Amino acid sequence: MPKILVTGGAGYIGSITAHLLARRGYGVVVVDDLSRGHQHNIGSLPFEKLNVVDTPALVGLLSLEHVDAVVHFAAYLSVGESVAKPELYFSNNVGGTLSLLNAMAKAQVKHLVFSSSAAVYGTQELPSIPEDAPFAPVSPYGETKLMVENVLRSLDRYSGLRSIALRYFNACGSDPESGLGEEHEPETHLIPLLLKAVVTGNPITIFGDDYDTQDGTCIRDYVHVADLAEAHLLALEKLLGGGASDAFNVGTGVGHSVLQVLRAIEEVTGRTVPYEMGPRRAGDPAVLVANSDKLQRVLGWKPRFADLVDIVETAWQFEKNKGKREYPK
Ligand code: UDP
Repeated sequence: MPKILVTGGAGYIGSITAHLLARRGYGVVVVDDLSRGHQHNIGSLPFEKLNVVDTPALVGLLSLEHVDAVVHFAAYLSVGESVAKPELYFSNNVGGTLSLLNAMAKAQVKHLVFSSSAAVYGTQELPSIPEDAPFAPVSPYGETKLMVENVLRSLDRYSGLRSIALRYFNACGSDPESGLGEEHEPETHLIPLLLKAVVTGNPITIFGDDYDTQDGTCIRDYVHVADLAEAHLLALEKLLGGGASDAFNVGTGVGHSVLQVLRAIEEVTGRTVPYEMGPRRAGDPAVLVANSDKLQRVLGWKPRFADLVDIVETAWQFEKNKGKREYPK
């Protein structure tokens, strides 16, 4: 079976994907600098602690391990933080990826699955976004993902690097197989913060109710992390089978407003979510909903968790287990 390097494999989506690959029989090597990921997510998967800016270390690892393909998650992910610290985002997300791409060229690794984002699109007029919608990022975070995608298009042409960019919409939920879930520090994402508000009784702030949407709050497409991990596997198989470079949206195609997510949390937990209305958060587009027809058609992807309540249920199970979670051995 092919050997896959997973960068950022101690993070939320990275670790769940790494364990999925291992369960499906792939050889897996994880790299992560553990600045934001968690060692406990890695379990017994082979692991090297390093930052992807370390090109020589990556060249050594890719060669020594005879890596066939890379799934590249290692990046910072917070829209709000990227607005406050754009330099950090450009150097880590773009600089880190350039280092990885250099290392891959030196070690002659020709296949890459890249964690891109719906943030490359920014605000769009359409009810759901197809892959050929215009790029219009409204945050440095989105800019970093678009810059990398542009580099990948060029490398496809000039270096023969075959890559698939997966443009995630809002990843959420916990993975029933590995038992892993979302543990960002600090947490900035909506669903874990709503659950935290339920548990602690401290109100969550909703970032704006004056958007041009039905209830005034932002609409997002919440996709379960296990379905997202599956999309990586399908993309990888496509590339390893000789497929061409491409880009796919990964979302369910259904949008939910912040208040609808809050109601789903109340339904699942049976408790009231304390909240207060605050101003808009910089960098937030009003509506981001995927058209994921291409992913379904070309890669045969189908979400197992299509219903928001089912997704929230897995996140709630993970939150309830805090302090007695069983991490992968
Ligand atoms: N959001 C919010 N309060 C919070 C965190 C998030 O109202 O404390 C909103 C945010 O403005 C966005 C949606 O929830 O409209 C999803 O945000 P998240 O940070 O989870 O993901 P993003 O869309 O930024 O990738």
